[in-house]
Amino acid sequence: MADKKVRTRYAPSPTGSMHVGNLRTALYEFLVAKSQGGDFVLRIEDTDRERYVEGAVDIIYKTLKEAGITHDEGPDIGGDHGPYVQSERKNMYLPYAQQLIDEGKAYRCFCSKERLEGLQQENVGGGYDRHCRDIPKEESDALAASGAPFVIRQKMPLDGSTTFEDAVYGSITVENSELQDQILIKTDGYPTYNFANVIDDHTMGITHVVRGSEYLSSTPKYNLLYEAFGWDIPTYIHLPLIMGKDEDGGVSKLSKRHGSTSFEDLSREGYLPEAIINYIALLGWCPKDNQEIFKMDELIKAFSIDGISKSPAIFDYDKLEWFNAEYIKAMTTEQFLETARPYLTQVLGDSGLDLSKVAAILQQRVTVLTQIPDMVAFLAEQPEYEKELFVNKKSKTTLENAPQLLRMSYDALSALKSWDHDSIHDCLISLAAENGLKNGTVMWPTRIAVSGKAVTPGGAIEILEILGKDESLARMKKGLEKLS
Ligand code: GLU
Repeated sequence: MADKKVRTRYAPSPTGSMHVGNLRTALYEFLVAKSQGGDFVLRIEDTDRERYVEGAVDIIYKTLKEAGITHDEGPDIGGDHGPYVQSERKNMYLPYAQQLIDEGKAYRCFCSKERLEGLQQENVGGGYDRHCRDIPKEESDALAASGAPFVIRQKMPLDGSTTFEDAVYGSITVENSELQDQILIKTDGYPTYNFANVIDDHTMGITHVVRGSEYLSSTPKYNLLYEAFGWDIPTYIHLPLIMGKDEDGGVSKLSKRHGSTSFEDLSREGYLPEAIINYIALLGWCPKDNQEIFKMDELIKAFSIDGISKSPAIFDYDKLEWFNAEYIKAMTTEQFLETARPYLTQVLGDSGLDLSKVAAILQQRVTVLTQIPDMVAFLAEQPEYEKELFVNKKSKTTLENAPQLLRMSYDALSALKSWDHDSIHDCLISLAAENGLKNGTVMWPTRIAVSGKAVTPGGAIEILEILGKDESLARMKKGLEKLS
């Protein structure tokens, strides 16, 4: 297998939105392939019609696209190993099962539903008793020809054990006696999930299988199929669970009660796709040095299978927020304006304010995009505020000196001919200097009067500039009234 081209596949079942666990599987499949110059295949496993959710396939395409995980082959773009949707492959599987029957490695089982149910009741957990395993071939062929319904089961070894290697979990052994004669083909002629999965991986030339550790226990069954056919077994890479932090200080499997768990919801909540991907890449994989920020091309360069850990990964929303803030800060001002625009227009849509100036005061302060409307709403409409906001120890402002300070600032700003950052800045700084005051002593009451908020993105000068002269003076006048 050494010189085979690496081929990985992401094989989602379209059952809803893309959970961070699914996204991590897709990302690692992609990285395993791309870090070794291989191909990454998308296969849709839609044979479980009961769990099928309309629209879920589109969510998969959309999520992969937004996340920058590009497949080389798949239902939408084709390739040499199609079809890439399992339901379109449904006629491919029976001949493989027939081959195993012919080789004495599988058999038809004619047991009725009633018999199997009876067995289950008598023999809880013991499973199928291999009743049809030794029906002579002629008898089995004749029964099938007569139209008797049957499933096809694999003859599992009756003794010995099966060992497989997992790139993350190491060597795992199960006793064959614990393995049932698994069904390969159901009465309707269609394959079981496990059978289809193996046939698909083999016929698509898959060399590495990345999936959640919940599949570890099925892997010996997959291996016995590869062995029955004499096919190369792929490299297995099972990924650790993703946990969330509970309120009581413990951890449990990540779920909705920890916060948003799907890519869609996280991105709706204001996390950037690049930040989500960067964070998810580190949920179970550790780079060789301490680098944390990775663009996709850097991930491809740095990724290696031996950096994957088997200890459960903890999804930390604070850490995700840190990544998000870093990605926001690293944007160009134009990129940030475009990214922030939908959130800005929610509250500033009709304000006529210069959104690029608003964006400029936000970029270094926003950590999640959905914070933006609340942070800038005061620019559209001044909130009600208490006059106590004018009091600030560090700036040496009190309710006694604030009226006079605000009045000075109002008069100086009213006299300004041009209203731009530098003029406002020079005006207020010289006002402070001329009166022997700290800059903050002049800025604080001014900023409170124009914003009505203790904390604002940007200082007095930026806010004055954005609001414009008329609005700024009107707000300062109201502040003076409040103080009088
Ligand atoms: N369709 C399976 C799932 O969505 C994939 C299993 C596998 O990767 O083998 O969980």
